[in-house]
Amino acid sequence: MELHAVTDLPEIRPGDDIADLVADRAALEPGDVLTVASTIVSKAEGRTADLEEYPVSGRAKELAERIGAVAGEQKDPRFAQAVLEESTELLIECPFMLTETRFGHICVNAGIDRSNVPDHDLLLLPRKPTESAERIRAGLAERGHEDVAVVVTDTCGRPFRHGQRGVALGWAGMSASRDWRGEPDRDGRELGVTVQSVVDELASAANLVTGEGADGTPAVVVRDWAFGDLEGSDELFRDVEDDLVRQALREWEFE
Ligand code: GDP
Ligand code: MN
Ligand code: MN
Ligand code: MN
Repeated sequence: MELHAVTDLPEIRPGDDIADLVADRAALEPGDVLTVASTIVSKAEGRTADLEEYPVSGRAKELAERIGAVAGEQKDPRFAQAVLEESTELLIECPFMLTETRFGHICVNAGIDRSNVPDHDLLLLPRKPTESAERIRAGLAERGHEDVAVVVTDTCGRPFRHGQRGVALGWAGMSASRDWRGEPDRDGRELGVTVQSVVDELASAANLVTGEGADGTPAVVVRDWAFGDLEGSDELFRDVEDDLVRQALREWEFE
């Protein structure tokens, strides 16, 4: 398996066609997976915003005050308002906002990014990352690159562990995960629970190549990698009914 950064991509502007820009710069082959940082998908989709666009509600004001008091510095209530508008649920309110985005991904601050965003205050996540991935995949196919799967990624924190890593927000042309249940281990014991989140693992590997700073390499080609013949599943985000951690957070009393 090899991972190659797509080099020489420009600063992405609203309306830019990512499939076109990548197809001009990468010799794609059937079976490749293209990972694309959500940052440039959002830029292309015009998902930039400015703080002045968010008139502050009482709830946002209260959240910013509480978080600011814990942090020992003032927090902009317009940022809290932007986070609320991008979210369907707040799982933790303070000292940081852990939210569910409108497309079902749980992350801090609804994934709103303030790095690598020239000319605007904020970069919101793509509205529907799976549709973004489908559009990029279709664009590649139109340019003769058939059979390239696309994964839209973001850098995201992890509960229980220090450090961030890449995760998949949306994908097209492949299943999200590989179901090992029923397969034998080396001693012939049947695997009972392992469903491997392939799109997240590819997103993490690709994130090593994209970097997080000024590298300018938001797209990565994964080559000589195969999904294999195990059953796939397209489920990545847990429903609240089978998510004990989320249920516990709902029960938790905020101080
Ligand atoms: P995120 O993980 O989706 O939030 O994206 P990051 O902000 O971590 O950026 C991932 C990579 O994309 C880094 O190498 C950045 O330097 C690069 N990057 C961000 N925006 C652009 C852009 O508009 N053009 C190019 N060429 N690279 C970008
Ligand atoms: Mn960023
Ligand atoms: Mn991000
Ligand atoms: Mn990143």
